[in-house]
Amino acid sequence: MDYSRQELVIGKKAQKQLEKSKVAIIGVGALGSLSSELLVRSGVKKLILFDNDFIEMSNLQRQHLYKLDDVNKPKVKVAKRYLKEVNPNVSIKEYFMSLTANNIKKLNKVDLILDCTDNMQTRFLLNDFCVKNKINCVFASAIQEKGYIYVYSPKRPCYGCIFSGLRSIDSCETLGVLNGVSSLVSSLQVNEAIKLLIGKKAEEDLIYVSLGKNDFNKIKVEKRKECKACSGNFDYLDGKIKEEVCGK
Ligand SMILES: [Zn+2]
Repeated sequence: MDYSRQELVIGKKAQKQLEKSKVAIIGVGALGSLSSELLVRSGVKKLILFDNDFIEMSNLQRQHLYKLDDVNKPKVKVAKRYLKEVNPNVSIKEYFMSLTANNIKKLNKVDLILDCTDNMQTRFLLNDFCVKNKINCVFASAIQEKGYIYVYSPKRPCYGCIFSGLRSIDSCETLGVLNGVSSLVSSLQVNEAIKLLIGKKAEEDLIYVSLGKNDFNKIKVEKRKECKACSGNFDYLDGKIKEEVCGK
């Protein structure tokens, strides 16, 4: 692989660092499929993929890794095959299953997690895991014409500090999403991921984009005193909260 164009921007040392990194991508729908592709193309060589879905016709509008022939196949299997065609040297461990409190320990030794899920239950579970184990996570979501990106790291406000109280949101299935929005959100997510992996300062604000009128916003966030995860109460990780709250 030739990373010369990227090295001109980040330098050879950072490129080497990137190539040694291990990243977990939770969900390989619209965000996870493009984010995993961008990470592999940027030189990340170790990936973990989690997803329990099959490819559907309605996914092809925005989910970059999948083609017509792939409909009805498991997303993680097709994603792995495609990513290994981009770079055969990449090592990918794929899990064709939902992320749960029981299997989340498979993420123990990663450098970074990308939250590309479509449901609140998994987001809060990931938040518990990342806060408890001091792992960096880049959360992203896209719906209709809007998207959010937020990096949470140890000592910074966590996902729960900002989004706690949200127990149910509409999904792409009910509200739809434009592919320009999901692609942009994914690009911003990977851009922050690369900063973290090479030791650069990542964005601290919540990024909110609304492409109807091309509004790009950065919103200041603060730790919330009552935040359960930040107070050491990991209800999702401990299996105390199990309800399916959104999506399928
Ligand atoms: Zn918190």
